[in-house]
Amino acid sequence: MGGYGSTRWNFHTKKETVEDCRALSISDLKREGVLQAGVERSGSWIWRNAYTNEYRASIGYELNTLGRFPYLRLHYTITRWDGNKRDMDYHVRLETTPCNYGGVRWWFICPLVVNGRSCEQRVGKLFLAPGSLYFGCRHCHDLTYRSSQENDKRVNALKRLGPLAILQGMNSGEIDTDKGFKALPPDIWRL
Ligand SMILES: [Zn+2]
Repeated sequence: MGGYGSTRWNFHTKKETVEDCRALSISDLKREGVLQAGVERSGSWIWRNAYTNEYRASIGYELNTLGRFPYLRLHYTITRWDGNKRDMDYHVRLETTPCNYGGVRWWFICPLVVNGRSCEQRVGKLFLAPGSLYFGCRHCHDLTYRSSQENDKRVNALKRLGPLAILQGMNSGEIDTDKGFKALPPDIWRL
C-alpha cells in the first residue's frame, strides 16, 4: 500500500523539479501542434506555473523539418546574478525512428558536450538546469554534477557562509563559476 503520505511527498517533489528546471519535451511540442513533419515555423515556447498559470519563462524557437536534417533552433537570454546577460542561440538536431504502427517517433539529439565528449543521445526531453546555459539530457546534467564533486564540497562550505562568500569564491577562481552560480539562492537567477 503506497499510503496517502507517500503520494503527497511525490507530488511535492515533482512540483519542485518542474520549477527548478525548464523542460522541453517532444510530447508537449507534438501536443501543442508545434512539431510536425515538413514544416518551417517559429514562435515562443512559454512555461507557466502549473497551479496559478502565472508566466515563468519563455524561449524563442525555430523549427525546420523540411530537409533531411531537421532541427529545432533555440534562442533565449540567460540573466546572471550580477545582471550580465548572455544571448544563447543554437540548433538541436531532431531525428525520427519508425513506429510499429506506422508513422514516426521524434527525438531530440542532446547537444551537450561533457568532459570533452559530445552526447548525441536520442532523448524525448531536454532540461535547462538552474545555472546552466544549454538545454541537455538528464544524463548529461547528472554527469556534469558528478564530475565535480570535490568542487561541490568547497562550494557547500562557502554556501554555509552565505551568498556573498559564494560570489567571492567565484570571483577569486577558488570555485567553478557554474557550480557557484548553482549554489546561489534560486531566485537569484532567471531566464
Ligand atoms: Zn546528453
